Amino acid sequence: MSIDLSNFRDETVISLSVEGQLNKDSLEFNGRRIRFTEPIKYDGEIYKVGKEKYLHVNINYRYEEVCGRCLEAFSREDKTVLSGKLVEKENEIGLDEDEDLIYYYDERLELAEYVVDAIIVSLPMKPLCHEGCKGLCAKCGANRNKDDCQCVVEDIDPRFAILRDLFPRE
Ligand SMILES: [Zn+2]
Ligand SMILES: [Zn+2]
Repeated sequence: MSIDLSNFRDETVISLSVEGQLNKDSLEFNGRRIRFTEPIKYDGEIYKVGKEKYLHVNINYRYEEVCGRCLEAFSREDKTVLSGKLVEKENEIGLDEDEDLIYYYDERLELAEYVVDAIIVSLPMKPLCHEGCKGLCAKCGANRNKDDCQCVVEDIDPRFAILRDLFPRE
């Protein structure tokens, strides 16, 4: 995952292709757990604009996660983009903070952490097996995508529920 930037010492070199795979089994963040079912693939380039160097790579990944509504595992293929300006670690003072910066050190760029961060940002806020997932029945716990359990789920205001418990009907 370490990319050698020393080719850019040659002023005539204006781009460098970046391609590879990252083997990562799983990822845990915000109480979620994503399991990668195949290596994460990335493919793109580092290119020069004037004196500056920029990175742009496409990331493809396939993962498995548990649905936040029905609790069934689902798998999905997704993609995202990682791009930003390369900055040597020592020279980070006084930079324009609006830009996405990617740091390298000693002519080497370690991409793994940036790839993983880009994936975290691209994942949906809430894991869902599919958009219309009906979730679990609040009464019997059945997966309502598979089983139409016919339960009548009363939507009772909790304040009234307290009153109902205080004055149970005979
Ligand atoms: Zn679901
Ligand atoms: Zn039910």
